[in-house]
Amino acid sequence: MPLLPELQNPAGPTAAREAVRFGEHRLTYAQLAAAADALAARIADAGRVAVWATPAPETVVAVVAALRAGVPAVPLNPRTGERELAHVVADSAPSVVLAAPGDVLPPALAALTRVDVDPATAGPAGSALTSTFASTFAEPSPESPALIVYTSGTTGPPKGAVLPRRAIAASLDALEDAWQWTGDDVLVHALPLFHVHGLILGILGPLRRGGSVRHLGRFSTEGVARELESGGTMLFGVPTMYHRLAEALARPTASGEPTSSAGPTASAGLAKALAGARLLVSGSAALPVHDHERIAAATGRRVIERYGMTETLMNTGVRADGEPRPGTVGAPLRGVELRLVEEDGSALADPASIGEIQVRGPNLFTGYLNRPDATAAALTADGWFRTGDMATLDPDGYVRIVGRRATDLIKSGGYKIGAGEIENALLDHPGVREAAVTGEPDPDLGERIVAWVVPADPAAPPPAGELADHVAALLSPHKRPRTVRYLDALPRNDLGKIMKRSLHG
Ligand code: ATP
Ligand code: MG
Repeated sequence: MPLLPELQNPAGPTAAREAVRFGEHRLTYAQLAAAADALAARIADAGRVAVWATPAPETVVAVVAALRAGVPAVPLNPRTGERELAHVVADSAPSVVLAAPGDVLPPALAALTRVDVDPATAGPAGSALTSTFASTFAEPSPESPALIVYTSGTTGPPKGAVLPRRAIAASLDALEDAWQWTGDDVLVHALPLFHVHGLILGILGPLRRGGSVRHLGRFSTEGVARELESGGTMLFGVPTMYHRLAEALARPTASGEPTSSAGPTASAGLAKALAGARLLVSGSAALPVHDHERIAAATGRRVIERYGMTETLMNTGVRADGEPRPGTVGAPLRGVELRLVEEDGSALADPASIGEIQVRGPNLFTGYLNRPDATAAALTADGWFRTGDMATLDPDGYVRIVGRRATDLIKSGGYKIGAGEIENALLDHPGVREAAVTGEPDPDLGERIVAWVVPADPAAPPPAGELADHVAALLSPHKRPRTVRYLDALPRNDLGKIMKRSLHG
């Protein structure tokens, strides 16, 4: 099957259906196919293209054009700093950059041939797809590289993951199976379009099914409520978005006073909109249990979590008809093998203990671009990918992610302690707005637990001793933070992931 079957079908029933909407700007399947094919013909000879991935229809047209032409595409984060952008461009070596006509491109892209994307190369809305392209170009082979997506750079400089069409198709089809995802679904989307979450799940997912996407441009709780009220069936978000939804649902304040004139009505409207959605999905980082519970209490709906990475696409997820359990990311998706191993790669001695997640399946990348060393280090001889994520397994196979081996596993006083459960415990304290937990070298304990806390009220931060007691009472005494440091905000990247490597003692 082609990667985007609905776009290959000139007379299909989806021709007149809305494929994507960004504000007032809409493209039907017919328009998207026409625009993408016109562009595909212009870039067919390029070895590799970069896409200036703003949240706009041009980005969708550019990526679809590259996929149709069989030219690997490298989505670029328009907010990347000059030095990192120069690294990505030198590493991925595209010859062409695709951008919207009005976009101003930075000097790091000066050596590339610029091709402006015109989404209006299209026929009138609803006309049959007049693609001559599909007949002129053969569908590329399943193993050919479709996208080169850079990792988020949470643990080190971003690496380019080479994603073949086979992996993208397999992962999207596993999500179709888990979520009963169909062409009738309308996805509400507010994520950036240069990572797996926003681009592969959020754009290619609906397009593979023949469904629709409504992109908000910028996330807002009002925008989510509006789109879910007017036909949206699914919401894909990162934990920071669900945190903002939980906060908005919690208005009016505890005293009963609305925080604004729109307060009570707005939160009731939002609760109704979220309750009406078919699926609320969170991924890219752990969803704090506190936010999960608050949303469930206000809406009667539970957010479901899925777990994936740039290199492996999606590994696990809670099924649409499954049981969303706070703090878990569900079971392995169809076709994905998952196991937990000891640090040396051997089978877990105690099946109930923490181990590193390894995965294998058709969803895996082919390797890191220009990094045979990193590729070899990430894969075992028999094809398992070492995720670097630590987890435990519930008896029924649900995965509980503890955190990353590099930054979230603290070895203190002979115990292996996951940062995540301490973060969840801290967030349970009313005086804490945000929390991150790290380990720091300690002569006595090996590592000492350090809590980084953004207080709910900066004028009255909860005392360190009170927070430490709170954690010890909820969890156990050896999980007590030894040091508490107060911050105005946590360092986060554009997916809202906490950048622990920039927290310094
Ligand atoms: P880099 O690899 O460059 O350090 P990164 O790992 O953040 O950055 P991504 O590939 O975008 O780059 O993110 C994958 C990681 O995100 C996973 O390895 C995992 O640590 C985390 N993650 C994704 N989904 C979840 C989830 N539902 N719960 C907890 N962690 C998650
Ligand atoms: Mg990673």
